[in-house]
Amino acid sequence: MQLPLNELFETIQGEGSKTGMPSTFVRLQGCEVGCPWCDTKHTWHMTEAAPLLEVLDKTGSDARFAWVSVGQLVHLVSERRSRHVVLTGGEPCQYDLETLTAQLLDAGLSVQIETSGTEPVRAEADVFVTLSPKLNMPGGRTIVEATLERADEVKMPIGKLDDVTRLERLLSRRKSLLTQQQIWLQPLSESQKATELCRQAAAERGWRVSLQMHKQANIL
Ligand code: SF4
Repeated sequence: MQLPLNELFETIQGEGSKTGMPSTFVRLQGCEVGCPWCDTKHTWHMTEAAPLLEVLDKTGSDARFAWVSVGQLVHLVSERRSRHVVLTGGEPCQYDLETLTAQLLDAGLSVQIETSGTEPVRAEADVFVTLSPKLNMPGGRTIVEATLERADEVKMPIGKLDDVTRLERLLSRRKSLLTQQQIWLQPLSESQKATELCRQAAAERGWRVSLQMHKQANIL
């Protein structure tokens, strides 16, 4: 099985409950959700396949991706120092991640998936799933019920009060309850207005605010 790799890099996980973990990020190409404020729009389309070495060398917003086998990807990740792997995108759950996550766990790594919730999660049970729900986006995708149930934390991008209401409506659909510590509000673009809205909404509900620590530290 081959997966489209857009980027592979080491950094610090800067969001949600895994904040502070040195991590290898594996960014897969492809997403059909279409969030207007997406900061990885270069991952949306499957147009520019390139040699793996070129992809491993590049940084920043670059649409080139390389097809890699699961074995190659596990090898590339295993030779990095970080013992935590974050599978992100794009929308990584477009792909069947069962074999990849099984082999990463077998290699002694902890594994996290960041997903918009618009696809089923096909991954090992021990994988930590961060659901960052993207509701009412131009791509017209909806949240998959099984993914909502599977989430180990929910991290909602918040720009206005309506987003908090949408999140509450979404959480009411989940059968098993999340603890307050599993629910994060993430201010869009970390504007002062959105951050203050998140602070107030989180304080009223016992939730948490996720600021992008890696951006404040000016690292990837
Ligand atoms: S789901 Fe993620 S990658 Fe896809 S458009 Fe939205 S923010 Fe961008």
